[in-house]
Amino acid sequence: MQFLVLSLLLQASSLPQEPSPPIAADLVLTGGRVVAVDDFGTVSEAVAIQGDRILKLGTTEEIAGFVTDETRVIELEGRLAIPGFIEGHAHFFGVGDSAMQLDLRQASSWSQIVDQVAAAAKELPKGSLIRGRGWHQEKWTSVPRGGVDGLPHHRTLSAISPDHPVILTHASGHATFANAAAMELSGITASTENPEGGEILHDESGAPTGALRETASGLLSPAYMKARRPDPRRQARLAVGECLRKGVTSFQDLGGSFEQVEVLRGMADDGSLDVRIWMALREPVTDLKSQLPKTKLKGYGNHHLTVGGIKRSIDGALGSHGAWLLEPYTDLSTSAGLNTATIEDVVACAEVALEHELQLCVHAIGDRANREVLNIYERTFGDRGDRKGLRWRIEHAQHLHPDDVARFAKLGVIAAMQGIHCTSDAPWVYRRLGEDRAASGAYLWRSLLDAGAIVTNGTDAPVEDLNPIASYYATVTRKLPDGSAFFPEQKMTRMEALRSYTLSNAYAAFEEDLKGSLEAGKLADIVVLSKDILECPEDEILDATVAVTIVGGEVLYERR
Ligand SMILES: [Zn+2]
Repeated sequence: MQFLVLSLLLQASSLPQEPSPPIAADLVLTGGRVVAVDDFGTVSEAVAIQGDRILKLGTTEEIAGFVTDETRVIELEGRLAIPGFIEGHAHFFGVGDSAMQLDLRQASSWSQIVDQVAAAAKELPKGSLIRGRGWHQEKWTSVPRGGVDGLPHHRTLSAISPDHPVILTHASGHATFANAAAMELSGITASTENPEGGEILHDESGAPTGALRETASGLLSPAYMKARRPDPRRQARLAVGECLRKGVTSFQDLGGSFEQVEVLRGMADDGSLDVRIWMALREPVTDLKSQLPKTKLKGYGNHHLTVGGIKRSIDGALGSHGAWLLEPYTDLSTSAGLNTATIEDVVACAEVALEHELQLCVHAIGDRANREVLNIYERTFGDRGDRKGLRWRIEHAQHLHPDDVARFAKLGVIAAMQGIHCTSDAPWVYRRLGEDRAASGAYLWRSLLDAGAIVTNGTDAPVEDLNPIASYYATVTRKLPDGSAFFPEQKMTRMEALRSYTLSNAYAAFEEDLKGSLEAGKLADIVVLSKDILECPEDEILDATVAVTIVGGEVLYERR
């Protein structure tokens, strides 16, 4: 047989050579620095694309051979082209929804927030819900009077919005502030009990202040139900636009619903889903069992929609004292945080995930929360030979006991982290955890990488802005706006950070053969930046803007 093949090859090579017809590229990017983010450190000058795939990377001269009259050519003029950013953990509908809400992130006092709501109340018809997002008491220059735990009292807010329910979500998403009308619609009174994993704050008279922590925010759902609902398709359309402007070509949505899957499926069918979505579902176990057979999707709509995971949150966030810690908070000694999803629920999700070959993705911020999730994963994997192959994830993995770092690599558990959370949380990490715990356990991406774990990157948008460049900058500098650096020994190199935002994110969704690097045969998802974030001076990284966003070989965004 071998002989036969060999002789056929010899015959073929002795035939006169017909010049093969040139392969025509549909799109060529040329004359720049094309960084492949592959395993060989490939850097080229140009890339040729045919259909939705990459044909070849090469020198400007080599790639010129693929250009015909039909080819669109983009001159890079020395600029950097890289794989499209993959957002590794964010909330797609939340990104669109926040475009419809009051943005409270810049407010430096409670009274500014009250003014923003007052302006909205003047505009909107009586009875419509006013929503806001992104407030953070640590950003305020003064502590509001009459409140509890540094949070305000609803009186001033309720006085300017007597006819509108108002619900304002904390920047972390783990606490909510409501006015009197919203509490009334929801039936929240002085005698309402705390739900499990949540807390209603009360003033000295015993009346609710309007501040609701963790699962207590869920008590407001009647107010949402009674108000008009925002249109999910509009949310998704706004999110697509936001992604393309920011160079995000794939988006991992951690915590979607069956209803949202159907919205996205409809958009994939009519061709309006211009970014690729990978989703982990946050639905009750019984519903997962009954509906997964028809909801599970892989590469639907030409690789635009995959339902690949199950999401749970075992604790809350550090900013709202909700992260579940091994020892009490340094600045709240009565509490070690909150356990939100029960261990039993996470274990039940693990069984469903194994049965349906989905990845389990559990939000864990505190060191106790991370340890509990690692324990559950370890027990579930048992002595399965392929346990590393499951690629289960811990979302955030922010505060670890040093003993748990090596377990990520050993169990093949992905640390799905967000560079930008480190620098925006840093100012209160010291207060919440104290110096020692912050030093030994906060945002340990260097230690995790050195131990052999996969660390991914993202923004948790709309908690933070979706901008990957800001999160990349935080990952490689750990610098705060005041110029100080938060435990800089834990920085990533620029190449590691780019990989965490591209190929590692692809790996974390079983998509590394399809995307995450620029290699022949992979999807042509590419971003061109105005500045070379791998080579420019560090303080210029944040000036970089997205010049071109290409998804599946189509130029879907160009900065004018
Ligand atoms: Zn999240």
